[in-house]
Amino acid sequence: MALVNENFLELPQDNVFADIRREVEKFKVIHPSYRLIDLSVNDVTHSLGEHVAERMRQAVDEMAQVETFHGYGPEQGYGFLREAIIKHDFNPRGIHLTPEEIFVNDGIKSEIGNIGEILGNDNAIGVADPIYPIYVESNVVSGRAGVFRGGHWSNVNYLECVEANGFVPQPPDHPVDVVYLCSPNNPTGMAFSKTGLKRWVDYALKNHTLILFDATYEAYIQSPGIPHSIYEIRGAKKVAIELRSFSRTAGFTGLRCGYTVIPHELQVQTLDGRSISMNRLWNYRQRIRFNGVSYVTQCAAAAIYTPEGMAEVRHAIGYYMQNVMMMRRELSATGVRLYGGEHVPYLWLRIPHAHSAWEYFRMMLYGAHVICTPGVAFGPNGEGYVRLSAFAGRPDCEEAVARLKSWL
Ligand code: PLP
Repeated sequence: MALVNENFLELPQDNVFADIRREVEKFKVIHPSYRLIDLSVNDVTHSLGEHVAERMRQAVDEMAQVETFHGYGPEQGYGFLREAIIKHDFNPRGIHLTPEEIFVNDGIKSEIGNIGEILGNDNAIGVADPIYPIYVESNVVSGRAGVFRGGHWSNVNYLECVEANGFVPQPPDHPVDVVYLCSPNNPTGMAFSKTGLKRWVDYALKNHTLILFDATYEAYIQSPGIPHSIYEIRGAKKVAIELRSFSRTAGFTGLRCGYTVIPHELQVQTLDGRSISMNRLWNYRQRIRFNGVSYVTQCAAAAIYTPEGMAEVRHAIGYYMQNVMMMRRELSATGVRLYGGEHVPYLWLRIPHAHSAWEYFRMMLYGAHVICTPGVAFGPNGEGYVRLSAFAGRPDCEEAVARLKSWL
C-alpha cells in the first residue's frame, strides 16, 4: 500500500493567490466590459535583454554542433558563471568566496524546499512575518511546521514585522535553530541596515542558528550603506546561506536560474554533537539529486555580467523603480499610509479604517477596478495591509494610480 506524505494534506487546498483569481473571475462575470488593472503581479513584465538573448541564441547553436555540444554539466554550475558571480556580486563589496562556495540553481523557490532536505526535522523554525510564503510552506510539507491553529503554525516562530518596529524583524529572546530573512523584503520593502543585520548574525553566532538569507531584491537597493549581502557582516560566513535569483534582475522568471552561497566555514550539528560542513553536505546532495542548470541558461546568466548585460539589468530595474516611486509619490498625497517602494518595486499599504485585507481587496476591486494582493498572503502579520506591485507596465501603473486617487 502506497502511503502519502500527509504533511502535504496539511496545507490549505487553495492558497491566497488562487482565491484572488477566483474573486477576479467572479468580478468579470458580473462586469464583463470593465478593464481591470492587475497590481497583484508577481512576475516581471520586461522581456530578456537583447544582449542576454543573443548569447543564449549562440549557446543554442553551440548545442547543435557536435564539436561544441554540452551534455551533463557540473551539478554545481559551470566555472565561468560561478567566477563571474564572485567577481561582480561579491568582490566589489570586499567579500571573498571560492567557486566551490557557489551553487548555481534553477531558482530560489525550489531551492528553499531542497535545502530543507539536509536539515533535521526537529529544528525550530523562525520566519520574518510577513514574508515570501514559500519558506513556511516548504517547512509544512517536510513536517516541521506543526499544526495550523488560528492562522498560525504551532512550531513556527513568527518574527513580527509591523509599523511599530519599522517592519524590521528582531531576534527573539530564545534560541531558534533555522531563521528565514529576506532583505529587501517582499512584501514590506524593509531593507536591513548593517546594524539590524549584525544583530541577527550575532544572535546566530551565539545560538548556533542557521540563517537562510534571501537577497532576491538586492539589486533594487537604492541607498548606499544598506548591505546587499549578509556576508558584509563579520562572522556571517559561519552562520548564513545566501540565496540569489536572476528572476527579478534580468527577467529570468521563465528561464529559471539563480544561485546559493554556502561558505566553507558554515557548520551544522548532529544530535551527538559532531560538526558537519554544510557546503560538503549540500555538494553531496546536489551530486545525487541534481544534474545542473542547462548550459544555455547558464550562458545567458553569465551574459548578465558583461557591460551590455549589466546595462540591460540597470534599465529594467530603473523602469520598475520609477513606476513604484511615481505610485508612492502620487498615492501618498491622498494621505494613505504607504511603506516600501524605496528598495523594492512593491508598496505596502496600511488599510485605512478597520477593514480586513480581504475586505479591502474586494473594495478596491469593485471600487477602483484594481487588483491588489491581500497582506495575509504573506503571513498573519500581513493582516491590515495590501501589497501593490509595480512590476506592471508604466501605462497600467499610471492608470491604476489615477483610479486609486479618485477612489481613495
Ligand atoms: N524570493 C522572493 C523574496 C520572491 O519574492 C520570489 C518571487 O516572488 C522568489 C524568491 C522566487 O524566486 P525564483 O524565481 O528564483 O524562484
